[in-house]
Amino acid sequence: MAGVDFVDVRKSFGAFPVIKGVDIEIEDGEFVILVGPSGCGKSTLLRMLAGLENITAGEIRIGDRVVNTLPPKERDIAMVFQNYALYPHMTVAANMAFSLMLAGSQKSEIDSRVARAADILGLSKLLDRYPRQLSGGQRQRVAMGRAIVRDPQVFLFDEPLSNLDAKLRVAMRSEIKELHQRLKTTTVYVTHDQIEAMTMADKIVVMHDGIVEQIGAPLDLYDNPANLFVAGFIGSPA
Ligand code: ADP
Ligand code: MG
Repeated sequence: MAGVDFVDVRKSFGAFPVIKGVDIEIEDGEFVILVGPSGCGKSTLLRMLAGLENITAGEIRIGDRVVNTLPPKERDIAMVFQNYALYPHMTVAANMAFSLMLAGSQKSEIDSRVARAADILGLSKLLDRYPRQLSGGQRQRVAMGRAIVRDPQVFLFDEPLSNLDAKLRVAMRSEIKELHQRLKTTTVYVTHDQIEAMTMADKIVVMHDGIVEQIGAPLDLYDNPANLFVAGFIGSPA
């Protein structure tokens, strides 16, 4: 495991700056939520950590490794997306095994990792099913299983619950937190939902228009918002 550091990270698309100098320190094992209105740069920040987007300036570190110059597969992270597209023609087991197969892992190693992830996620009895035979919550768990099998140093989530109905969303919040308590993998989680941030995060990073407005524990932000933006954003309904 390892922490994550963003050091004065900047990003422009053409001449248009979207990340304007961001510093974030994430401790080893922490569950950190980036929250802010749509378009403020949350996904861009996550994609730069994942290596799906280059940074324009600054530095990103995982543990003591500078990763912003590394290709995605050398960063030792795994990402769960909002549109958790499972492969429809593959079973649950094959969906979870796929990235390990691509990486050339041994079959015995793949089988044991898939079995462990299925056990953690309560999917052991569903390994032979196809995605169309699963509920929304089960599909979401398979998407998490694909990340868990890789046993990465860092998990990234980009609005993983926003396509689920309200009831399932609340249930999955607890599942993801339980998963984190069990694995203690450093996690960076993006949402625009204040309630999700307040209830799930060890530490919240409030973003607004490409900058960080405030970083703190949920109650710190609630009790001592740094400015009117944070007060309004944290205090307003999702
Ligand atoms: P969020 O995830 O917080 O909703 P994004 O990181 O997706 O925000 O986007 C931040 C800003 O960057 C937005 O103004 C968006 O339009 C812009 N943007 C994101 N990706 C690209 C891209 N590939 N090309 C140009 N502009 C982009
Ligand atoms: Mg986004």
